[in-house]
Amino acid sequence: MSVGVAILGSTGSIGCSTLQVLARQRERFRVVALTAYSNADLLERQAAEWRPAYVGLVNGGKRGSGPGARGSGAGCLIEAATHPDVRVVVNGIVGAAGLEATLAALRAGKRVALANKETLVMAGELVTRAAREGGGEIVPVDSEHSAVLQCVAGRGPAELARLILTASGGPFRTWPRERIAAATVAEALRHPTWKMGKKITVDSATLVNKALEVIEAHFLFGLGYEAVEVVVHPQSVVHAFVEFVDGSVLAQVGFPTMELPILYALTHPDRVPDAGTRRFDPVAAGSLTFEAVDAELYPAYRLGRTAATAGGTAPTVFNAANEIAVALFLEGAIPFGRIASTIARVLDATGPTGADTLDAVLAADAAARRLAREAACS
Ligand code: NDP
Ligand code: MG
Repeated sequence: MSVGVAILGSTGSIGCSTLQVLARQRERFRVVALTAYSNADLLERQAAEWRPAYVGLVNGGKRGSGPGARGSGAGCLIEAATHPDVRVVVNGIVGAAGLEATLAALRAGKRVALANKETLVMAGELVTRAAREGGGEIVPVDSEHSAVLQCVAGRGPAELARLILTASGGPFRTWPRERIAAATVAEALRHPTWKMGKKITVDSATLVNKALEVIEAHFLFGLGYEAVEVVVHPQSVVHAFVEFVDGSVLAQVGFPTMELPILYALTHPDRVPDAGTRRFDPVAAGSLTFEAVDAELYPAYRLGRTAATAGGTAPTVFNAANEIAVALFLEGAIPFGRIASTIARVLDATGPTGADTLDAVLAADAAARRLAREAACS
C-alpha cells in the first residue's frame, strides 16, 4: 500500500520540487491532498494530474471542477493536514500561516516533512510538544537539517557535541557594506546557488535564513545555542557538519538540490533508489572554501542569534518583524538596509514573555507585526 502525502503549498518552490520527486516514486507514495494560497491555475493543473482526494485554495473560493473534495479559507490547510488517508504532510507554506496545520498534523500523529521553518521558530515549544503529545514526528526538509539528521542517524543525543550549518552567504557576500543597504529587489533575488521562493531568497541575502535555521536546529536536535555554529561556504556543497563527543566530524555533501532532502524526509530512516538528481562528482564540485560569518555584513543574523538565546517569545518577535520587513522590501516600500534596522527596533521595544501557549505566541506575533509596520515606515 502506498503512503498518502499531503502537500501544503504545492504551487511553491518546495511544493513543485516535492511533486517532481513523487513523480519518480509513484509506487511508494500517492498524493492525497494539495493546497495553495491563490494560484488557482497551477493548483488545478496539479489536481488534474495527481487526482488527490482533497484540494484546498485558501484565498479564492471553492473553484475547480476536477475530482476530489474542495476546501477554502485557512481551515482547508488543517483539513488537508489531518485527512485520514494522509501519513506524511509536506509543509511547504511560507511564513507563520503554516503554524496551525503543523500543530494539527502532529497532534493527529502524522509525520510532518517540514520546510516551513518560520513556524518552528515562532512556536518551537508548542510544535515540539504537539509532536510528543500526539505521536507525530517532525522531519526536516531544510537541506542543512536534513544533512544533520542523516549524519546523526543511529546515534543518541548524548553522543552529539556540536553542529556547524553552512550558509552560502547570499548575493552580497563580496559587496562593500555601504552598497548593500541600498541593494534593489532584483539584486537581492539573485541567489548564487539556490533557486527558491522570494521570501527565503531575501532571508538568504540578510542571513536571517541562517538565524532561523540555528533556532530550527536547536528545537529539532535539542542542542544549546552555543553548540550550533554557522560557517559561510559559498559553493553550497557541504550542507552541515556534525561533531560527536569523541571529536569525530561527519558531513553530508551534494550538489545543491532540494529534491534529495525532500525524498529523505519522506523515507527517513530508510533510503530508496532514485535516479532523478545529479550524482555527486568531487572533481566537478572543485575547490570548497569556508569563511567565518562577518557579523558587520549581516546585522540581522546577529539579532536572530540574540533573540534565540533570549528565548520565550523573542524568536516569535524576530520572525514576525522579519516577515513584515521582507514583505515591505519586496513591495519596494523600504530599502534593503531597513530590514535589519526594523527587526532591531521591534526587538528593542518588546520584552519576551513565555511562549508556551498558542495565545501567547499569536499575541506576540501580532504585536510584533504592528510594531514592525510602524518602525519600518517611520
Ligand atoms: P514559495 O513562495 O515558492 O511557495 C510558498 C507556497 O505557500 C505557495 O504554494 C503559496 O501558494 C503558499 N502560501 C503562501 N502564503 C500562504 C498562506 N498565507 N496560506 C497558505 N498557503 C500559502 O516558497 P518556498 O517554496 O521557497 O518556501 C516555502 C517554505 O520552505 C519556506 O518556509 C522556506 O523558508 C522553506 N524552504 C524553502 C527552500 C526552497 O528551496 N525553496 C529551502 C529550504 C526551506 P500560492 O502559490 O498560491 O501563493
Ligand atoms: Mg536551508
